[in-house]
Amino acid sequence: MSGEELIRREVIENFTFPGKLVEEILYGSGHINDTFRLAFETEQGRKRYILQRMNKSIFHKPVELMENIVGVTSWLRKKILANGGDADRETLNIVLARDGRPYYLDSAGDYWRAYLFIEGASCYDKVEKREDFYQSAVAFGHFQGLLADYPAKTLHETIMNFHNTASRLDDFKAAVLRDTCGYAGDVQREIRFVLEREHLAYVLGEMQAEKKLPLRVTHNDTKLNNIMIDDKTGKAICVIDLDTVMPGLAVNDFGDSIRFGASTGDEDERDLAKVSCDMELFELYTKGFVEGCAGSLTDEELDMLPIGAMVMTYECGMRFLADHLDGDVYFKTHREGHNLDRCRTQFKLVADMEKKLSAMNAIVDKYRQRER
Ligand code: ATP
Ligand code: MG
Ligand code: MG
Repeated sequence: MSGEELIRREVIENFTFPGKLVEEILYGSGHINDTFRLAFETEQGRKRYILQRMNKSIFHKPVELMENIVGVTSWLRKKILANGGDADRETLNIVLARDGRPYYLDSAGDYWRAYLFIEGASCYDKVEKREDFYQSAVAFGHFQGLLADYPAKTLHETIMNFHNTASRLDDFKAAVLRDTCGYAGDVQREIRFVLEREHLAYVLGEMQAEKKLPLRVTHNDTKLNNIMIDDKTGKAICVIDLDTVMPGLAVNDFGDSIRFGASTGDEDERDLAKVSCDMELFELYTKGFVEGCAGSLTDEELDMLPIGAMVMTYECGMRFLADHLDGDVYFKTHREGHNLDRCRTQFKLVADMEKKLSAMNAIVDKYRQRER
């Protein structure tokens, strides 16, 4: 047995799985954690589980991170049961380690966790049908709705200042001043684009400080392959991948989904003529998200959804530009100027959203009326 296999034996023995292990495969297409699917034969038949080795280079506080997941999943389980739902499929369910903890620390120093496997549902890496994007909106909205009265401030901020756009702006300005690679002179236009829109870095934080936007449970990785879609009905049943669950603003989750999901071009498209905000997709996501939230968003939150999309896109573009100036130390690049190309698509989208703001507001109003 290889060292890796020996470690997995140790790990599997230390979780409260029932019966005899009959299958163990590397599973899924996640990029962050190492995911395995296990099957056990028990008297009641076969039971499957997900086992994950958590990525320690990204998540420095695995214990706090698991505390967040325990808090959120046990809350969701209670709500789903109260609504008559199937709590084994509509939320992640943690399998405890033998010592009662929600994780196991192996002898090589890695943290592991286990979940019930959600049967009869699939994850999709690419938006193939517009309906999928709508389903993801409903799922993330529903997640937001079920957690609307969760005490968000009790969650740990496992990645500091994750969507603190003001602090991202400070980091950006420091990168411009450092000008490590001497590129600043060549990207004056992009730098100006950021500086002319500084208000975008402060608007949400100020509203939060004035209590106009409530602190919420946010997911922070709202992509399509982080929801499970029922194989029979085609409907989203569960939000997964809760590593980045943190206290935050609902408009940020919404905004990030629009940023990457409603663009007509790829994130690194060089032909900026191909990049714009697809208003049909914007409408579809807004409809799904507002319906999924089922009346839990405040009027101010609804008002700020389009601005949330703009702020998330602005923040992301500024991070790409800062990384370009720093010499591509954070985001992986596959060609020269890759981060600059990415920054330009984001700024093109921001500019396009500025033009479409009143149309976006009208769309939000249309679905707000229906919910009221
Ligand atoms: P990402 O790259 O999205 O951050 P990750 O490495 O954090 O991914 P997850 O998204 O948690 O990993 O899981 C990887 C894949 O494993 C999922 O896309 C899904 O296909 C599958 N998966 C995870 N949890 C479950 C579950 N409870 N039941 C069924 N499948 C699951
Ligand atoms: Mg994932
Ligand atoms: Mg993940």
